[in-house]
Amino acid sequence: MHVESIPMWEGSGNNYAYLVTDEKSKDAVIIDPANPSEVLPSLKKAVDSGIKITNIINTHHHHDHAGGNSKILEAYRVPIIGGKDCDKVTKTPEHGSTFTIGDNIKVKALHTPCHTQDSICFLFEDGNDKAVFTGDTLFIGGCGRFFEGTPEEMDKALNQTLAGLPDDTKVYPGHEYTKGNVKFAVTVAQSEPIKKLEAFAGSNKQTQGKFTIGDEKQHNVFMRLDDPTVQKYTGKTDRVDVMAALREAKNSM
Ligand SMILES: [Zn+2]
Repeated sequence: MHVESIPMWEGSGNNYAYLVTDEKSKDAVIIDPANPSEVLPSLKKAVDSGIKITNIINTHHHHDHAGGNSKILEAYRVPIIGGKDCDKVTKTPEHGSTFTIGDNIKVKALHTPCHTQDSICFLFEDGNDKAVFTGDTLFIGGCGRFFEGTPEEMDKALNQTLAGLPDDTKVYPGHEYTKGNVKFAVTVAQSEPIKKLEAFAGSNKQTQGKFTIGDEKQHNVFMRLDDPTVQKYTGKTDRVDVMAALREAKNSM
Protein backbone atom coordinates (compact mmCIF):
# COMPACT_ATOMS: atom_id res chain seq x y z
CA MET A 1 0.00 0.00 0.00
CA HIS A 2 1.14 3.50 -0.76
CA VAL A 3 0.15 6.41 1.50
CA GLU A 4 0.31 9.97 0.14
CA SER A 5 -0.19 12.65 2.78
CA ILE A 6 -1.95 15.80 1.59
CA PRO A 7 -1.48 18.65 4.10
CA MET A 8 -4.41 21.07 4.29
CA TRP A 9 -4.68 24.50 5.94
CA GLU A 10 -0.99 24.48 6.83
CA GLY A 11 -0.27 26.98 9.57
CA SER A 12 -3.85 27.03 10.86
CA GLY A 13 -5.77 23.71 11.10
CA ASN A 14 -2.78 21.64 10.00
CA ASN A 15 -5.04 18.86 8.75
CA TYR A 16 -4.06 15.84 6.67
CA ALA A 17 -6.00 14.10 3.92
CA TYR A 18 -4.54 10.78 2.85
CA LEU A 19 -4.62 9.09 -0.54
CA VAL A 20 -4.06 5.36 -0.01
CA THR A 21 -3.41 3.22 -3.08
CA ASP A 22 -3.28 -0.52 -3.65
CA GLU A 23 -0.25 -0.55 -5.92
CA LYS A 24 -1.22 -3.73 -7.77
CA SER A 25 -4.78 -2.87 -8.81
CA LYS A 26 -4.22 0.92 -8.63
CA ASP A 27 -7.47 1.26 -6.70
CA ALA A 28 -7.30 4.05 -4.11
CA VAL A 29 -9.32 5.75 -1.40
CA ILE A 30 -9.16 9.35 -0.24
CA ILE A 31 -9.45 9.87 3.52
CA ASP A 32 -10.90 13.16 4.89
CA PRO A 33 -10.51 15.32 1.76
CA ALA A 34 -11.90 18.31 3.61
CA ASN A 35 -10.36 21.14 1.58
CA PRO A 36 -11.02 20.29 -2.08
CA SER A 37 -8.85 23.10 -3.47
CA GLU A 38 -5.80 21.46 -1.84
CA VAL A 39 -6.87 17.85 -2.51
CA LEU A 40 -8.25 17.87 -6.05
CA PRO A 41 -4.86 18.58 -7.71
CA SER A 42 -3.39 15.47 -6.03
CA LEU A 43 -6.40 13.39 -7.06
CA LYS A 44 -6.15 14.59 -10.65
CA LYS A 45 -2.45 13.74 -10.77
CA ALA A 46 -3.16 10.28 -9.36
CA VAL A 47 -6.00 9.61 -11.79
CA ASP A 48 -3.89 10.84 -14.72
CA SER A 49 -1.26 8.27 -13.71
CA GLY A 50 -3.82 5.42 -13.91
CA ILE A 51 -5.11 5.34 -10.34
CA LYS A 52 -8.83 4.78 -9.77
CA ILE A 53 -10.53 6.49 -6.80
CA THR A 54 -13.03 3.99 -5.38
CA ASN A 55 -14.21 5.63 -2.15
CA ILE A 56 -14.12 8.66 0.09
CA ILE A 57 -13.51 7.65 3.70
CA ASN A 58 -14.29 9.94 6.65
CA THR A 59 -13.01 9.52 10.20
CA HIS A 60 -15.80 11.69 11.68
CA HIS A 61 -18.35 14.35 10.79
CA HIS A 62 -16.45 17.56 11.64
CA HIS A 63 -16.28 20.07 8.82
CA ASP A 64 -12.48 19.99 8.62
CA HIS A 65 -12.69 16.25 7.86
CA ALA A 66 -15.99 15.61 6.04
CA GLY A 67 -16.77 19.14 4.83
CA GLY A 68 -15.26 18.59 1.37
CA ASN A 69 -17.42 15.62 0.42
CA SER A 70 -19.96 17.45 -1.78
CA LYS A 71 -17.28 19.17 -3.80
CA ILE A 72 -15.17 16.02 -4.20
CA LEU A 73 -18.29 14.12 -5.34
CA GLU A 74 -18.73 16.60 -8.21
CA ALA A 75 -15.44 15.33 -9.62
CA TYR A 76 -15.52 11.71 -8.41
CA ARG A 77 -18.91 10.06 -7.93
CA VAL A 78 -17.86 7.43 -5.38
CA PRO A 79 -19.51 5.99 -2.26
CA ILE A 80 -18.59 7.57 1.07
CA ILE A 81 -17.68 5.29 3.95
CA GLY A 82 -17.74 7.01 7.33
CA GLY A 83 -19.48 7.80 10.57
CA LYS A 84 -23.24 8.23 10.59
CA ASP A 85 -23.15 12.03 10.85
CA CYS A 86 -20.72 12.62 7.96
CA ASP A 87 -22.05 14.75 5.11
CA LYS A 88 -23.43 12.61 2.23
CA VAL A 89 -22.27 9.36 3.87
CA THR A 90 -23.29 6.22 1.93
CA LYS A 91 -22.27 3.52 4.36
CA THR A 92 -21.34 3.41 8.05
CA PRO A 93 -19.46 0.16 8.68
CA GLU A 94 -20.14 -1.83 11.84
CA HIS A 95 -17.43 -1.92 14.51
CA GLY A 96 -14.96 -4.65 13.55
CA SER A 97 -16.31 -5.10 10.03
CA THR A 98 -13.92 -5.26 7.08
CA PHE A 99 -13.79 -4.34 3.41
CA THR A 100 -11.05 -4.41 0.79
CA ILE A 101 -9.37 -1.91 -1.51
CA GLY A 102 -8.21 -3.46 -4.76
CA ASP A 103 -6.53 -6.84 -4.40
CA ASN A 104 -4.37 -6.39 -1.35
CA ILE A 105 -5.55 -3.90 1.23
CA LYS A 106 -7.86 -5.11 3.95
CA VAL A 107 -9.58 -2.34 5.95
CA LYS A 108 -11.13 -2.80 9.37
CA ALA A 109 -13.47 -0.21 10.93
CA LEU A 110 -12.86 0.51 14.60
CA HIS A 111 -15.52 2.58 16.34
CA THR A 112 -13.88 5.01 18.76
CA PRO A 113 -16.65 7.32 20.04
CA CYS A 114 -15.61 10.30 22.22
CA HIS A 115 -14.23 13.22 20.16
CA THR A 116 -17.47 12.69 18.21
CA GLN A 117 -19.92 9.84 18.68
CA ASP A 118 -19.44 8.89 15.02
CA SER A 119 -15.61 8.68 15.17
CA ILE A 120 -14.20 5.67 13.36
CA CYS A 121 -10.53 4.71 13.06
CA PHE A 122 -9.59 2.63 10.03
CA LEU A 123 -6.92 -0.09 10.19
CA PHE A 124 -5.35 -0.79 6.78
CA GLU A 125 -3.41 -4.03 6.30
CA ASP A 126 -1.38 -5.06 3.27
CA GLY A 127 0.66 -8.15 4.09
CA ASN A 128 2.88 -7.16 7.01
CA ASP A 129 2.36 -3.45 6.38
CA LYS A 130 -0.15 -1.95 8.81
CA ALA A 131 -1.44 1.61 9.16
CA VAL A 132 -4.22 3.12 11.24
CA PHE A 133 -5.95 6.37 10.26
CA THR A 134 -7.11 7.85 13.52
CA GLY A 135 -8.84 11.15 12.65
CA ASP A 136 -9.15 13.27 15.79
CA THR A 137 -9.14 10.33 18.22
CA LEU A 138 -5.40 9.61 18.49
CA PHE A 139 -2.70 12.12 17.55
CA ILE A 140 1.05 11.54 17.73
CA GLY A 141 1.71 12.13 21.42
CA GLY A 142 -1.87 13.21 22.19
CA CYS A 143 -5.58 12.74 21.64
CA GLY A 144 -8.64 14.71 20.50
CA ARG A 145 -10.92 16.78 22.67
CA PHE A 146 -13.92 15.07 24.22
CA PHE A 147 -16.57 17.11 22.35
CA GLU A 148 -19.27 14.42 22.31
CA GLY A 149 -17.96 11.88 24.78
CA THR A 150 -16.53 11.05 28.18
CA PRO A 151 -13.05 10.35 29.58
CA GLU A 152 -14.19 6.73 29.97
CA GLU A 153 -14.92 6.52 26.25
CA MET A 154 -11.51 7.98 25.35
CA ASP A 155 -9.82 5.49 27.69
CA LYS A 156 -11.60 2.66 25.87
CA ALA A 157 -10.83 4.11 22.41
CA LEU A 158 -7.12 4.64 23.08
CA ASN A 159 -6.26 1.99 25.61
CA GLN A 160 -8.41 -0.93 24.49
CA THR A 161 -9.40 -0.48 20.84
CA LEU A 162 -6.23 1.18 19.50
CA ALA A 163 -3.78 -0.23 22.05
CA GLY A 164 -5.03 -3.67 21.03
CA LEU A 165 -3.61 -3.26 17.51
CA PRO A 166 -0.19 -4.76 16.71
CA ASP A 167 2.64 -2.58 18.07
CA ASP A 168 4.12 -2.10 14.57
CA THR A 169 0.98 -0.41 13.22
CA LYS A 170 1.90 3.06 11.86
CA VAL A 171 -0.25 5.96 13.05
CA TYR A 172 -1.69 8.52 10.60
CA PRO A 173 -3.68 11.16 12.52
CA GLY A 174 -6.03 13.83 11.17
CA HIS A 175 -3.81 16.75 12.23
CA GLU A 176 -0.15 17.64 12.68
CA TYR A 177 -0.34 18.51 16.37
CA THR A 178 2.81 16.78 17.62
CA LYS A 179 4.76 19.90 18.67
CA GLY A 180 1.93 21.13 20.90
CA ASN A 181 1.28 17.65 22.25
CA VAL A 182 4.88 17.07 23.26
CA LYS A 183 5.08 20.54 24.81
CA PHE A 184 2.33 19.35 27.16
CA ALA A 185 3.76 15.84 27.60
CA VAL A 186 7.09 17.15 28.95
CA THR A 187 5.20 18.99 31.69
CA VAL A 188 3.71 15.62 32.72
CA ALA A 189 6.78 13.39 32.46
CA GLN A 190 10.35 13.72 31.19
CA SER A 191 10.83 10.09 30.13
CA GLU A 192 13.30 9.08 27.41
CA PRO A 193 10.52 8.30 24.87
CA ILE A 194 8.96 11.74 25.45
CA LYS A 195 12.34 13.46 25.08
CA LYS A 196 12.93 11.53 21.86
CA LEU A 197 9.56 12.64 20.50
CA GLU A 198 10.34 16.22 21.50
CA ALA A 199 13.61 16.10 19.55
CA PHE A 200 11.91 14.56 16.51
CA ALA A 201 9.09 17.12 16.50
CA GLY A 202 11.66 19.90 16.86
CA SER A 203 13.44 18.94 13.66
CA ASN A 204 10.61 17.48 11.52
CA LYS A 205 7.61 19.43 10.28
CA GLN A 206 5.63 16.27 9.53
CA THR A 207 5.36 13.35 11.96
CA GLN A 208 2.46 11.31 10.52
CA GLY A 209 3.35 7.68 9.76
CA LYS A 210 6.69 8.03 11.59
CA PHE A 211 5.44 6.48 14.83
CA THR A 212 3.60 3.29 15.71
CA ILE A 213 1.02 2.14 18.22
CA GLY A 214 3.99 0.68 20.15
CA ASP A 215 5.63 4.13 20.23
CA GLU A 216 2.39 5.79 21.36
CA LYS A 217 2.19 3.41 24.33
CA GLN A 218 5.61 4.79 25.36
CA HIS A 219 5.39 8.54 24.64
CA ASN A 220 1.65 9.35 24.72
CA VAL A 221 0.64 10.28 28.26
CA PHE A 222 -3.04 9.61 27.44
CA MET A 223 -2.02 5.98 26.86
CA ARG A 224 -0.10 5.76 30.15
CA LEU A 225 -2.87 6.16 32.71
CA ASP A 226 -1.29 3.57 35.02
CA ASP A 227 2.16 5.23 34.92
CA PRO A 228 2.96 6.45 38.49
CA THR A 229 4.55 9.65 37.10
CA VAL A 230 1.40 10.46 35.12
CA GLN A 231 -0.80 9.65 38.10
CA LYS A 232 1.32 11.85 40.33
CA TYR A 233 1.01 14.77 37.89
CA THR A 234 -2.80 14.51 37.93
CA GLY A 235 -3.11 13.72 41.64
CA LYS A 236 -5.46 10.86 40.68
CA THR A 237 -5.15 7.09 40.50
CA ASP A 238 -8.41 5.93 38.92
CA ARG A 239 -7.87 5.54 35.14
CA VAL A 240 -10.90 7.59 34.16
CA ASP A 241 -10.01 10.37 36.61
CA VAL A 242 -6.44 10.44 35.28
CA MET A 243 -7.75 10.71 31.70
CA ALA A 244 -10.14 13.53 32.64
CA ALA A 245 -7.44 15.45 34.52
CA LEU A 246 -4.92 15.12 31.65
CA ARG A 247 -7.45 16.40 29.12
CA GLU A 248 -8.38 19.35 31.31
CA ALA A 249 -4.74 20.25 31.88
CA LYS A 250 -4.01 20.08 28.15
CA ASN A 251 -7.10 22.17 27.32
CA SER A 252 -6.02 24.93 29.66
CA MET A 253 -2.43 25.06 28.35
ZN1 LIG B 1 -12.74 16.76 14.81
